[in-house]
Amino acid sequence: MKSSVGLHHVTAVARDPQKNIDFYQQVLGQRLIKTTVNFDDPGTYHLYYGDWLGSPGTILTFFPWQHVKPGVLGNGETSALSYQIDPQSISFWQARLKQFGFMPGKIESRFESEVIPFQDPEGMRLELVTTPSPAPVTVWKDGPVPPESAIFGFDGVSLWVDEVESTATLLTQVLGYQFIGQAGQRYRYAAPEKNAGTIVDLIHRPTGSRGQFGAGSIHHIAFRAKDTEHQLALRDLVLQHGIGVTEVINRSYFKSIYFRVPAGILFEIATDQPGFSIDEKTEELGQRLCLPPWFEDRRDQIEALLPPIRRTVEPVYK
Ligand code: ZN
Repeated sequence: MKSSVGLHHVTAVARDPQKNIDFYQQVLGQRLIKTTVNFDDPGTYHLYYGDWLGSPGTILTFFPWQHVKPGVLGNGETSALSYQIDPQSISFWQARLKQFGFMPGKIESRFESEVIPFQDPEGMRLELVTTPSPAPVTVWKDGPVPPESAIFGFDGVSLWVDEVESTATLLTQVLGYQFIGQAGQRYRYAAPEKNAGTIVDLIHRPTGSRGQFGAGSIHHIAFRAKDTEHQLALRDLVLQHGIGVTEVINRSYFKSIYFRVPAGILFEIATDQPGFSIDEKTEELGQRLCLPPWFEDRRDQIEALLPPIRRTVEPVYK
């Protein structure tokens, strides 16, 4: 059995789409690589950010639900998303986050790295993790952040769990992850390849309360499948572990299956193909509203429901 080679994407909840774009694209320098709608709720945007190409392991997506209450982080949720940075960009990022009013927390040491914790405009926890040799991604050269200080792809995610064992079993026996080590309540697992987004940390909180889903919550995390055959093989393994899993769902840019792990977190397995260039040229990614073919005949109606957004980078962020 071939393992998953890391995270494909992470999906979270925001409220205001413009604040979301201004923060992820303009402050963090993550390129808006797809503007579409939530396929299950086409009156809501689905915004995708990533490297220049929208490579797996760099893709963070949001549903901006304008009337959702703020979430309260707790057990059964993904508690943080971390990105890789060069160790020499620490002071650049501390200064940049402060400059735009996002106060970074105290630097933490974690395994071999230093970590800058901070929060996005909805309170979602993010981390920049120093990585001496970050996994290669295609940095946005003309973006708001100078390429030498750019954020690379994901480092990984942290999950808050009541107990470690059941999620650890799925990571190692279904997704092919390996146990790397333990530091305090943090149990680290990693995909056995050098890609962006290979780390999953399980944070053991035996007495922690459950989370309340809302703005700033991470909705699900998606792992990579090489192709549909690989995805179906992984699906069989999930079923063999007694976990219910969806049929394959067409998300236009990838195909997905979903299952909820016993610890409460929603996992997805998404195919690398066909990717984000199926309906836009690379240079134009994200610049127009893309709809899947089955919504095209309702485009006018859908566009009228969506709030206007500004995608261009303002000089103040350069
Ligand atoms: Zn997803």
